[in-house]
Amino acid sequence: MCRGSYCYLTDDEWERRIARFAAIARSCTLCPRNCHVDRFSGERGYCNAPGELVVSSVFPHHGEEPPLSGTGGSGTVFFTYCTLQCCFCQNWQISHEAEGRPFTPGELAEKMLELQEQGCHNINLVTATHFLPWLLRALQVAAKKGLFIPLIYNCGGYEHASTIALLSGIIDIYLPDMKYGGNRAAQLFSRTANYRSFNRTSLREMFRQVGALTIDNDGVARRGLCLRHLVLPNNLAESEAILDFLTSAFDPADIYISLMAQYRPLYRAAEFPEINRRVTAQEYESVKKAFIDAGFPGFFQEFDGLDESFLIDFTARKEKALTPRSAPGSRNASPPDLSSKGRPESTASLSPNGEEVR
Ligand code: SF4
Repeated sequence: MCRGSYCYLTDDEWERRIARFAAIARSCTLCPRNCHVDRFSGERGYCNAPGELVVSSVFPHHGEEPPLSGTGGSGTVFFTYCTLQCCFCQNWQISHEAEGRPFTPGELAEKMLELQEQGCHNINLVTATHFLPWLLRALQVAAKKGLFIPLIYNCGGYEHASTIALLSGIIDIYLPDMKYGGNRAAQLFSRTANYRSFNRTSLREMFRQVGALTIDNDGVARRGLCLRHLVLPNNLAESEAILDFLTSAFDPADIYISLMAQYRPLYRAAEFPEINRRVTAQEYESVKKAFIDAGFPGFFQEFDGLDESFLIDFTARKEKALTPRSAPGSRNASPPDLSSKGRPESTASLSPNGEEVR
């Protein structure tokens, strides 16, 4: 039986990590936006996340990369809000429009245990950086109650390497994006002028911790790095620059690539003519060929026959996936105020020393 690395953390070490993340969230620099808001007193930064967990959906996902979904599914937890908020986000209902409801760490722990009981191969934490102090408490509780399957950290790749370093020995599989090879498109579509450098340094830290993706005899990933890249129209992701970086920084044989052709001009993409269309077969196939020729293993989506089954309607799904303890979607239904440093309506559920205080 493969046990996640977090199973070997002592209580003292869990408490130390939770306290470190709580201190960071007191003047929030969990991500490179560095908002310096006090998340524990209800202030909100760029991501608009409050001082408690908010979750949109929890379910066994059968549409992730084959080594992650396997036969039992990837036990996926979609966290509400996002530190990037790309204008073309396919999960815009949760990243931009705050679909979801508050969870206590104890509730989330129970949900993760249910996913394990349902036969999921892993727990897939999607876009969790802005909730790390509260998430670690949930993981600690779940581990004490018997959670053991590997943890996936599924993120947009806009991370502080120091934040990732604090997850060492907790996360088994990193699943970051490399969205942009340059900063122009990052600024235009994700409002971050420094994506590339943070993306690259955090990627190095992830690889340092877990190394190349290891897949067991059943075809299921156990540990390592799986890197996602979504090809954009008009080469706006600058895929060649990403390829150049990866070949210079790593042995290509060590980097499992998930190359995606599924871009759709969703949410507010229509406001940008250059991304207001799908990628063409030619655009996608040339990037795919370059990665394969360079020797990268991985999962390369087929362009032909790609339907839209990867799109998730989070508003419809939540009724099935969550058991509300309060009116679903009743909080934070308005789009984020990016200029605001916070609206003092949140109730903190974790004290600075990491104790649950609800
Ligand atoms: S965007 Fe959110 S997680 Fe990132 S620093 Fe600002 S408040 Fe913290």
